[in-house]
Amino acid sequence: MQETTARPRVVVVGAGWAGLGATYHLAKQGYAVTLLEAGGQSGGLVAGWKTAQGRSVEAGIHGFWYPYRNIFGLMDELGLSPFTDWTRSSQYSPAGLEVESPIFQNEPLLPTPLGTFLSTKFKRLPLSDRLSALPLLYSLLDFDNSDDAWNRYDLVTARELFKQYGVSARLYKEAFEAMLLVGLFAPGEQCSAAATLGMLYYFILAHQPDFDVVWCRGTVGEMIFQPWVEQIQQLGGQVLTQKRVTDVLVSPNADGTPVTTGVMCGDERFEADAVIFAVGITGVKKIVASSPSLQHYPEFCQLANLGAVDVLATRLWFDRKVNVPLPSNACFGFDNTTGWTFFDLNALHDEWQAHEGSVIEVDFYHANQLISMTDADILTKVQGDLAVCVPGFADATVVDHSIIRLPQAVTHFAPGSRQFMLPSPTPIANLFMSGDWIITDHGSWSQEKAYVTGLEAANRAIAHLHHGTPAAIIPVEPDEPHIQIGRQLNQMLRTWGESVLPQLWL
Ligand SMILES: Cc1cc2nc3c(=O)[nH]c(=O)nc-3n(C[C@H](O)[C@H](O)[C@H](O)COP(=O)(O)OP(=O)(O)OC[C@H]3O[C@@H](n4cnc5c(N)ncnc54)[C@H](O)[C@@H]3O)c2cc1C
Repeated sequence: MQETTARPRVVVVGAGWAGLGATYHLAKQGYAVTLLEAGGQSGGLVAGWKTAQGRSVEAGIHGFWYPYRNIFGLMDELGLSPFTDWTRSSQYSPAGLEVESPIFQNEPLLPTPLGTFLSTKFKRLPLSDRLSALPLLYSLLDFDNSDDAWNRYDLVTARELFKQYGVSARLYKEAFEAMLLVGLFAPGEQCSAAATLGMLYYFILAHQPDFDVVWCRGTVGEMIFQPWVEQIQQLGGQVLTQKRVTDVLVSPNADGTPVTTGVMCGDERFEADAVIFAVGITGVKKIVASSPSLQHYPEFCQLANLGAVDVLATRLWFDRKVNVPLPSNACFGFDNTTGWTFFDLNALHDEWQAHEGSVIEVDFYHANQLISMTDADILTKVQGDLAVCVPGFADATVVDHSIIRLPQAVTHFAPGSRQFMLPSPTPIANLFMSGDWIITDHGSWSQEKAYVTGLEAANRAIAHLHHGTPAAIIPVEPDEPHIQIGRQLNQMLRTWGESVLPQLWL
C-alpha cells in the first residue's frame, strides 16, 4: 500500500483550500505526498457535486475578493480562468433595497476609507447614522493585526466595541451586524472585536477596491478543485477520499522530542516524515477525541473550547425567469441572529445562462434555528423571504431544489477564542497546522487565508525535512501611506501612554 521511496513522505489531512495548497506545493517539490480526505470529494466547505438529476450543487456560493492575490496567482499558474468579471452587489432588509455597491476600482480612487464611504449608495440609512462610524476609525488604526492587538481586542465582543465608539443603533443593526453575519457568520454579540476589525479591514477598508468580488462561473468543485487535483496527481501526489484520520502516531526521537511517524485511518496506517493538518475546527476536535496521542497535549485538548457555526445552502430552480437586479445580494433583519445571501445563477454560472427559469442560490449563515426545519418548511421560508426582496418570486413555482445542511461547519471567531487557536507549529516537531482558523500574521481571511496557511505549513515541512524550495507567498497589499503614518503615531502614543498610565483597557 505505502510507496517505498527515498523521497520524503508527507501526509496531509483534509482536502479543502489549505490541504490542497500544501499538497500541490509539496508535490511540485518532489515529495511523496498523500492527501487524506474524510468525505467523498475534494473541496472541503467549497465542495460541489451533481444531484441525481445531473444538476450542479455545492456547499454554498463562494466569492473571491480583490485581495485574494495568492488564489488569483494560483489560477494563473494552473492555467484556469474560472471567474466572472467583477460584480456589483446589493443589500436588502424586510423594508426592501437598502444598499447598492459599485465596482469600487472603477470609481475615482480616494484615500481609504473615503472612496468606500462615498461610492456606496445607501437607499435609506440617514447620513447622521453613517457619520456615527467616524470615531470607530481609531480602532481600525489601533488594530494592526499584531499579537498585542489581538490580545487587547479579542476578549471584547463586536457589539461592545461598536457601542463604545458611539456607532448609532441603526448603523450597527443595518450595516455592521449585517456584515458580521455574512463575513464572520455570527451576530455582533457572538463575534470577537479583534476578528471583526481584522475582517472589516481586509475585505472592505484597507484599499478602495478590496470589496470588489468575482464568482466562479460554475461550481468551485468543477471549475477549480477537479482540474487542480488532476494536476496534483500528474505531479505524483496521491489524493485519497473516504479516508477519515482517527489518530496520529507519535513517539520520541533520539533527543526525546516528540515526532509523528504517520496517521491512522481506523485500522489503516499511513507512514510519514511529516504530517500537515488541514481540517476545520469540528474535524480537529473529533480527531483529538479519538486520538490518545494528541490527548497528551494541552494545546490539543484546549481545542474543545472552540466552536463552529451552522450554515444552510439552498438552490432553487423556478419555472420562469424572474428579473433579479444584481447577481449577488446580502440580506439582514429577517430573523434575529441569521444573515443570508442570494445569487442569480443565471447571471453567474455558464450552465444556467440560457436556462428558461431562474436558478437562485440562497445561503443562510448562523442558521441554527433553520437547520432542523423540514425541507418543505425551508422552501416556503426561502421563497417567502426572496419575494420580499424581489416580488416576482412570489408568483413563480419551484420546480426543483437542493437543500444542503452544514452543521458546525464554519469557524466561529467567538470573543476569547483566539487563546485556544493554534499556530502552524505544534508541540510535535513535524506536525503542522493549517486552515482558515489557524493563527498567522499574513492578514488574509477565509479561502485566501486557508490557502495561504496551507502554503505556510508546506514551507514548515520543507524547512524541517531540508528538501525542496519554499512556496512564495504574496503578502497582503501594504497599508496606504496615511494609514501607515496614523499607525506609527498611534503606536508611539500607546507606548508612551503605557509607560506613564495604568493599563486602561481591561
Ligand atoms: C456557505 C458558505 C459560504 C462561504 N462563503 C465564502 C466566500 O464567499 N468567500 C470565502 O473566501 N470564504 C467563504 N466561506 C468560507 C470558506 O469556505 C472557508 O474559509 C474555507 O473553505 C476553509 O478551507 P479549509 O481548507 O481551511 O477547511 P475546509 O474547507 O473545512 O476543509 C477541511 C477538510 O478536512 C476534511 N476532514 C475533516 N476531518 C477529517 C479527518 N478526520 N480526516 C480526513 N479529512 C478530514 C473535511 O472533510 C474537509 O474536506 C464560506 C463557507 C460556507 C460554508
